[in-house]
Amino acid sequence: MKIHEYQGKSILRKFGVPTPKGSVAFSVEEAVAAAKELGGPIWVVKSQIHAGGRGKGRFVNASNDAELDAAAAGHPLAGDGGVRLARSIEEVRVAAEAMLGNVLVTKQTGKEGREVGRIYIEDGCDIADELYVSVVLDRSNNKILVMASSEGGTDIEDVAEETPEKIHKVWIDPAIGFAGYQGRQLAFALGITGKTVRKAGAFLDSLYRAYMASDCDMVEVNPLVVTGGGDVIALDCKMSFDSNALYRQPEILEMRDLAEEDDAEMAAAKYNLSYVNLDGNIGCMVNGAGLAMSTMDIIQYKGAEPANFLDVGGGAGREQVAAAFRIITADPRVKAILVNIFGGIMKCDVIAEGIIEAVKEVGLEVPLVVRLAGTNVDLGKKILAESDINVIPAGDLNEAADAVVAAIQ
Ligand code: ADP
Ligand code: MG
Repeated sequence: MKIHEYQGKSILRKFGVPTPKGSVAFSVEEAVAAAKELGGPIWVVKSQIHAGGRGKGRFVNASNDAELDAAAAGHPLAGDGGVRLARSIEEVRVAAEAMLGNVLVTKQTGKEGREVGRIYIEDGCDIADELYVSVVLDRSNNKILVMASSEGGTDIEDVAEETPEKIHKVWIDPAIGFAGYQGRQLAFALGITGKTVRKAGAFLDSLYRAYMASDCDMVEVNPLVVTGGGDVIALDCKMSFDSNALYRQPEILEMRDLAEEDDAEMAAAKYNLSYVNLDGNIGCMVNGAGLAMSTMDIIQYKGAEPANFLDVGGGAGREQVAAAFRIITADPRVKAILVNIFGGIMKCDVIAEGIIEAVKEVGLEVPLVVRLAGTNVDLGKKILAESDINVIPAGDLNEAADAVVAAIQ
């Protein structure tokens, strides 16, 4: 699960990680009130979406009236991206109007972009240097990895690719935790000197503690800045959490923003279905993760691409099957559906009834191939055959894959 920058910063603060002062706003009025409260003289207005690259992002309607008015009034904004500097309350208002309710496209959102529903009004910071730091789980070393680079603020993926020597790494021994010498080592590697070395060490130590205590799987601070006065501050924050640990993190679960999550994946989660959206056009409904994987494999082997991974689970009932079917048919990219069920605990007749229920409700506009095997298979086939749904039956997996691939051609 991911959260917004302002929420991440509120967690970091609890662990003593320095951040600028700021306030979230859901409306222009709230933004103006927040800016007055902060006092200025420089504010930064930041679109809150679960994607990075906001500073360099662009709004779909980039030349709306508010921006034109601002330019005409002689206080043009610093850029027209998702993060803007404001030098007056009026500029905060204009930036807020330009952002709220509009769609921001960044390198990480894809071209459909994300609608901005909330913004963060933050104190402007006197930046001397922009650095990068992140804490991640390194699965290949079974340790937490802290990465830092002097090349902050820009696209760190490019740095990793073109100049990997500029990314410094330390691995944390779980029995010891983040050690003082590791903080100094990273600080020196980043070119930090003088009294700022100790501040950087303290910053990294707090960041590591925030990561561990919050069951994060990733925390990224980009940029981490050294200010003109030599302080070390988190200017951006991206955090994601291990969803298996959310049961013991009720305060973090509260921060969930459903508007940022994929509709289909959300609907699937509600019915306890494992669903992952993919790029192809054959919708799949399968029981069991292994069978779902092999169904995707055989579709690819036959020259087509699955539109999703969907495991309805071992003991799904009629309602879940219907929900799964609705999710698949709601996806406009789906040009044919393959239902592949091996009835064990799950009974084929239950599957058949679930499909019929869902088709009655949402209709069926694409070819539907059904392969059933196992418990109550004959009853399941009979129920489908006697229904007025147009089903293409298949005897085995190979036949089913051939049929569904033929159906999209
Ligand atoms: P994103 O990574 O999504 O583009 P950031 O929060 O990193 O968003 O902001 C982009 C850039 O805007 C930063 O690299 C920094 O230069 C500037 N910036 C962000 N917040 C502030 C702030 N509070 N004061 C001054 N500059 C800021
Ligand atoms: Mg950033």
